[in-house]
Amino acid sequence: MADQYELTCSTCGNTVLVGQPQAGSRVACRCGEQLDVPTLLALQNLPTVKLAEEAESPAWSFQHGLIAIGFILTVACAIPGVYFRVEQSTTTPYRMDTYQTQVIQQLDAESPLETWIRWHHRIVPLAEQGLTEFQIPDTITYERKMERLGTYQIISFGAAGIAALGTLIALVWLKRR
Ligand SMILES: [Zn+2]
Repeated sequence: MADQYELTCSTCGNTVLVGQPQAGSRVACRCGEQLDVPTLLALQNLPTVKLAEEAESPAWSFQHGLIAIGFILTVACAIPGVYFRVEQSTTTPYRMDTYQTQVIQQLDAESPLETWIRWHHRIVPLAEQGLTEFQIPDTITYERKMERLGTYQIISFGAAGIAALGTLIALVWLKRR
């Protein structure tokens, strides 16, 4: 809906609202005075009153809602991705010397019985399964974690990308109307 223009009555000072269709014609003020409505061009110089766009507002708010949802979705999807990225970059890779230090510290802190139990648990499976390639569980855990975090990032940023694209489409659609 077009804006309304504020036409001031020269007799009583009252403001009469006029629209573009009334340009060049006359309108009656409440005081009885006939006011000349300026031409379409001169009308632009008058102060305007923005009227509520009731007829168009449902469609507009629907699109605005879509964009808002899209934007929220984009951010909501990207946040875990950022978290996984940070988690991935701050996780220290497995280091042999750290492991050895940890083992020594653990051995120092343990009672002989605890040491015996732990070695028993390690040696028994070896006796049952035979000597396998030496693999440190921490290395496997680390690699699996990195892989998992990488996958999560792909999912998270992928979803954020789709949401961003949807938002962009809704934005273009809104602009075209
Ligand atoms: Zn008047």
